[in-house]
Amino acid sequence: SPTIESEHTRRASLPRNMIENSMFEEEPDVVDLAKDSTFPALDPDEVVYEPRSSRLLVRGLGENDLDDEEEDYESSARLLGMSFMNRSSARSPSTSPYIRQAPPRSCSRPSARMLVVGVFILVLVTSMAMVLYFLPGCTFTKAGCPKANSSTPMELVYPKSTNGELFPWNELRLPASVRPVNYDLSLTPNLTSMTFTGRTIINMIIQHDTKRIVLHSSEINIIKATFQSVEVKVLEYKPWQQIAVSFPEDLKEGQVCVLTLDYAASLSHTYDGFYNSSYNDKTGAKRVLAATQFEPQAARKAFPCFDEPAFKATFLVRITREPEYITLSNMPKANTTTLPSGMLEDVFEQTSVNMSTYLVAFIVANFTSVTRNVSKTLVSVYSVPEKKEHTHYALDTASSLLHFYNTLFDTDYPLRKLDLVAIPDFLAGAMENWGLITFRETSLLVQNQSSPLDKQLIANVIAHELAHQWFGNLVTMRWWNDLWLNEGFATYWQYVSLMTEFPQLYLGNVFLKERFKAMAKDSLNSSHPVSVSAQVTTPEQVSEMFDSITYEKGASLLLMLNSTLPDGQFRKGLIKYLNQYSGCNTVTDDLWNSITQVAVQESVSDMMRTWTLQKGFPLVTVSRKGGEVTLTQEHFLLSADNATHTTSLWHIPVTYVNDSCSSAPSCRQMFTLRNKTATLKVSESVKWLKLNYMNTGFYIVHYGDEGWAALIDSLKTDVSTLTPHDRASLIHNIFSLSRLGRVSFRQVLSLLDYTTNETETAPLTEALSQLSSVYRLLDKRQELRLVARMKAYILGHFGPLMDSQDWGVEESVSSQELRSALLEVACGLGRQNCTNQAMALYEQWTKSNQTNRIPGDLQQVVFSVAAQSDSGWLSLLDTYRLTTYDSEKRKILQALASTQDPRRIVCAGLEGGFIQTQELPLVISTVSDGFAGHLFVWDFVKESWDRIIENFPIRIYVGSYPIQSIIKSTTSQFSTQTHLEEVQGFFSSLKERGSHMRSVQEALETIRLNQHWMDRNLATLRDWL
Ligand SMILES: [Zn+2]
Repeated sequence: SPTIESEHTRRASLPRNMIENSMFEEEPDVVDLAKDSTFPALDPDEVVYEPRSSRLLVRGLGENDLDDEEEDYESSARLLGMSFMNRSSARSPSTSPYIRQAPPRSCSRPSARMLVVGVFILVLVTSMAMVLYFLPGCTFTKAGCPKANSSTPMELVYPKSTNGELFPWNELRLPASVRPVNYDLSLTPNLTSMTFTGRTIINMIIQHDTKRIVLHSSEINIIKATFQSVEVKVLEYKPWQQIAVSFPEDLKEGQVCVLTLDYAASLSHTYDGFYNSSYNDKTGAKRVLAATQFEPQAARKAFPCFDEPAFKATFLVRITREPEYITLSNMPKANTTTLPSGMLEDVFEQTSVNMSTYLVAFIVANFTSVTRNVSKTLVSVYSVPEKKEHTHYALDTASSLLHFYNTLFDTDYPLRKLDLVAIPDFLAGAMENWGLITFRETSLLVQNQSSPLDKQLIANVIAHELAHQWFGNLVTMRWWNDLWLNEGFATYWQYVSLMTEFPQLYLGNVFLKERFKAMAKDSLNSSHPVSVSAQVTTPEQVSEMFDSITYEKGASLLLMLNSTLPDGQFRKGLIKYLNQYSGCNTVTDDLWNSITQVAVQESVSDMMRTWTLQKGFPLVTVSRKGGEVTLTQEHFLLSADNATHTTSLWHIPVTYVNDSCSSAPSCRQMFTLRNKTATLKVSESVKWLKLNYMNTGFYIVHYGDEGWAALIDSLKTDVSTLTPHDRASLIHNIFSLSRLGRVSFRQVLSLLDYTTNETETAPLTEALSQLSSVYRLLDKRQELRLVARMKAYILGHFGPLMDSQDWGVEESVSSQELRSALLEVACGLGRQNCTNQAMALYEQWTKSNQTNRIPGDLQQVVFSVAAQSDSGWLSLLDTYRLTTYDSEKRKILQALASTQDPRRIVCAGLEGGFIQTQELPLVISTVSDGFAGHLFVWDFVKESWDRIIENFPIRIYVGSYPIQSIIKSTTSQFSTQTHLEEVQGFFSSLKERGSHMRSVQEALETIRLNQHWMDRNLATLRDWL
């Protein structure tokens, strides 16, 4: 969910207890519960339990009060970090070969002191990080059913609770000895004081004899706790966000018990937990609301709970509110009562399904809605009142997709209502909470007359979140290491559903681009397997799972599998999977087993495990002698020293076409390459082969000099000999091979020669984006002569096509995509024809008081050209503040960020004034693309790191998608040793505030690769451009 996100099932096919909650309410019989087939009995003997590292003594048995110590080192580390940062930025002007912008002043912070304290703290921080790093996790065995730790194999070392007593648990993962069955939540938020009080009544069942109940709780103050009506003492271990109750005697297996916790907390000021948000209504008055974002681990900030996805339970939610607000939760409202205080209490129906805590949601706001019935479900779209007009497209789209998925998955969405809510302040794109999907306004709201390209974005997010109602909500990954089972599927279905249901939105090109993007990340050594087998336990490691490997590579693998299996089998396998695991939790092998059960040929598991359990993907090299074609596979691993070789092998479903039959789907032939090398027979008369038909496979192909030459010749004669996606795939592959050092840049340019005859969107946008990224690298390196020649090359090649673009209304999405890509490059390179047209449109728009609309796909380029002048920038800023059109707003923001003076926009983004903090990653990435701002914004990130992670708090968000994006966009265009050292120096100074993030490894690797590419290719470029 935390990028763009979002799904359901047939009521009749759900086990009865899932639907009607009979399991607890009607039959509170202990024995039946324990025997419930949905939750197979646990086997205590399978437990793996490792004694923890003695390093824990540093914390657990230290003499100091832990919490003071922790606060202390955090604030001091921050100071220490500041001094490192100031040093590195003070050093850089003298060592950097570039002309730098003045360092940011208006939004920088005072520098730090206390180096001596700092060094001491550094040691402490390091040891802490090591303790966290080496923590063992607990082992889960069966679907939905965590195993208990029944015995105590060694003498255990326990950490100390807040009150000084030993905390009775020493793992980041919860013990499996207790399972929650139902939560009864009462919440009373106060939107004036921005606090809330709550009562959580948890019904649970003891899975194994145990003397403790351990659950999660974070930043909430437990006032009173009762267990079976007797007041009990609650111990808290803050670093792991856990609380516990200890008992002198064993609680017995099968026992049903009730823990009641009364607590108070502040509404979160960040974007997670139960947080407050505000916006200005059309009169300019400030309005407040409270909403939730729990995934992955923030439900514990709103109510004490067993906050792991495998602990599914039912939920009954009650919320007290002022009469001016409405409340929403996962389920329909059952009733409202007026309290003596005049406040109202809304009680929602108990969930009719078992769900994971991260899917619980509630909102208190004054929203309005539009609604429609789709079979047994009431679909509603909520927004702030003044944007009600912009909700209709979302309602139409969600309604047809709900119907589509109900049929496709052969399982009806199980709830009676489905709300889609646009929240003015929201960090992720959207979140798939069951029955209450939350969105950023820009991901849900669109005017009726907006361009299809704007609608494509909205439909994309809705399709993703809806798919989650089945893949994620109904069937959930057991633990975050298999997050791809949620996100890979939702991403896959978002494209496939739209390609089928809304072919006019033309999602095929977007999906192709996303697959290329996933390959770029997966070709680095810092990548990870889709299904991570290594430990994913700390909050940072969990946050890091939300990346393009999990989303886009996951989706790509599903596409490959589907196109490999005979028609219909993939869908059959998935219906089987949904039925088998409905209401439960799964691991990756469960999916393969379900599909294998319906697939006729070889084991799907054998093939797919080679793709999900190892990182990276293969390069297939083709060499041909007459009718004999030899295919060889190796790991496509970009490495600066060419020293890393892996022995990874994949089961590759190699598809191919040849010159006699090359574009129709029926031309496609298939061969599974399981070994390092294999031979394939073709007719001697075959002139060429093109592998990976339509680029549905997750691999890159090298055809050798002769193979490439034959393909290039053929394209020069007749472009349509291959499908547009095959042409895009050749362009993508040859640029990738150039990065790997297998083909020269001359060969790349030789393929691109054919593109003067190209008219299709996919190959042209791929060529433009590859060339632009080379252009940007040269630009940032100030290779001025090469920059000029690269610009001349791009304009020489694509200039005629750029100039021939129409600036009027264009209906086809594919043409809009192409037109906007061409014109953004043209205007970005200052092509007069383009900038003149853009300015003319902008002036018409301002003169007509913005009633003379700019076509949606041209807004970005028009605004960006206008924002280059001071008056244009200021007037766009006014429009940005006032407009209620969200799709326009986003484009204006990007235009504002493309300014030659990026300081004002970046600082404003951080301060969260008129630019909401949620937009900071977008602002930073736009500024980074331009020459004017890229060094400035890197300095800004270094100097403001602490403030950035205050807004995206460290415990939750280091490693998260916004942080990944910020790191990537600010560093990925560096290509010199100086910058490599600077980036390395900065991140290693961060210590536990982020030094071990995977995105840092990725950043360093990328800089080294850029450096290496430059070393190899600058000379060639000088010769061949
Ligand atoms: Zn998602």
